[in-house]
Amino acid sequence: MHEFNVIQKYFTWNKPPRDVVIAVGDDAAVLDIPCNKQIVTSIDTLVSGVHFPEDTAPYAIGHKALAVNLSDLAAMGASPRWFTLALTLPEIDETWLEGFSAGLKALAQQHDCFLIGGDTTRGPLSISIQVMGVVDIGKALLRSDARVGDKIYVTGTLGDAAVGLQSILNKNNNSSDNSDENNRKSSSLEKEADTFCQQRLNMPTPRVVESNIIKHFASTCIDVSDGLLQDLSHILDASNVGAELNLTQLPLSSALMTLLSTADNKQASKLALTGGDDYELLFTIPESRETNFLGIVKGKAKVSCIGTITDTTEDTIKITDENGNPLTSTGYNHFHDE
Ligand code: ADP
Ligand code: MG
Repeated sequence: MHEFNVIQKYFTWNKPPRDVVIAVGDDAAVLDIPCNKQIVTSIDTLVSGVHFPEDTAPYAIGHKALAVNLSDLAAMGASPRWFTLALTLPEIDETWLEGFSAGLKALAQQHDCFLIGGDTTRGPLSISIQVMGVVDIGKALLRSDARVGDKIYVTGTLGDAAVGLQSILNKNNNSSDNSDENNRKSSSLEKEADTFCQQRLNMPTPRVVESNIIKHFASTCIDVSDGLLQDLSHILDASNVGAELNLTQLPLSSALMTLLSTADNKQASKLALTGGDDYELLFTIPESRETNFLGIVKGKAKVSCIGTITDTTEDTIKITDENGNPLTSTGYNHFHDE
């Protein structure tokens, strides 16, 4: 199949929204810019074997390539509108292209984000998506506006994707020997939990709906792609403040707890604090807006308060245990070392 036909068949979508004047097919796309809005744009590349395991289903790759970009827009409080796709393919494999474009299209349609153009080349599999969204003028959620006393919140649950990745890597390592035996040993509950965590890694849910509520209340927001501690530190650096986190308030899924069956709290906390790829939103809410925020968000999105913004002290991030006592510095480092 010729490249032209690939674009025509898999990446030319019908029914462009009204603000798309020219989409795929000309030398470049033409867009109407909405009045009283600013354009928010971001780009992310996924490389096979680096950002997703090589044997990941093409549907999931299509989903994830867009999801990580939508997550960046959500973190800015922006609504998705358009995206471009730069696709590098080792070969024209129609089964792969069908799955990939279906995963991409399903998520794009869910969030009214339209494919307006791209580029197709030969080479090792990699996918770059540049997404564009809109925000009311001056209303983008930045990292730099956290103030002492703001409450620190996170959507969803943390650490699931890290468990999912571990599970995939273990399976690949064991595949030559006794994987059947391993499978027989795990209960159906464990299998369900395992599927859930792998799904969290491969098919992350960008928190677009949540962002639409959060943007009216938050002082800062970031998406958790590199792990809670690391991403929180970006807010703290940009805002020149510190933070106190309560270990017991970290939201953990029942799947994660099922898979860490020894009730290994230390391991669960470590995964929640440092595991990447969850694509939850981490944000700060000024105390004066907290009651209103909780009233509106209730029943619409899962959010958890995990701490408070503090003055910068000797520890930029202070973590307290179940008794409210600060962890010793060894206890804290320990989350980074292993
Ligand atoms: P040019 O040589 O002018 O860059 P291309 O052959 O690269 O043209 O692209 C032709 C048209 O197809 C353009 O409108 C471009 O945006 C679109 N296109 C190319 N690859 C993709 C892709 N992977 N997804 C969506 N649109 C694409
Ligand atoms: Mg081109």
